[in-house]
Amino acid sequence: MNEHEKTAKALKARLSELRTHLAKVDRELHKALPADSEDQAIELENQEALEVIEETETTEIHRIEGALKRISEGTYGACAKCGEPIDPKRLEALPTAATCISCSA
Ligand SMILES: [Zn+2]
Repeated sequence: MNEHEKTAKALKARLSELRTHLAKVDRELHKALPADSEDQAIELENQEALEVIEETETTEIHRIEGALKRISEGTYGACAKCGEPIDPKRLEALPTAATCISCSA
């Protein structure tokens, strides 16, 4: 049993949540624009906001995938830069952290 199994489980749950949401955002982004120009302006603004969300969520997905990879490889919890163990409190607050506090600063 992996000591980070609980973290992996939580990360996987978050990952599927993000993917479901991202699929919705994606559908919104690709729907046809309304014919009315005023509605169109609103819709375009809405799409700009959605694009920001899409970007943020995609970044988070990549971070989670990275963390899950480190868990399966057994390198999770060690700083990717200096190799020192990452403070468990930091991992608790930020489970996808790849580096220790001093290296991330
Ligand atoms: Zn470090």
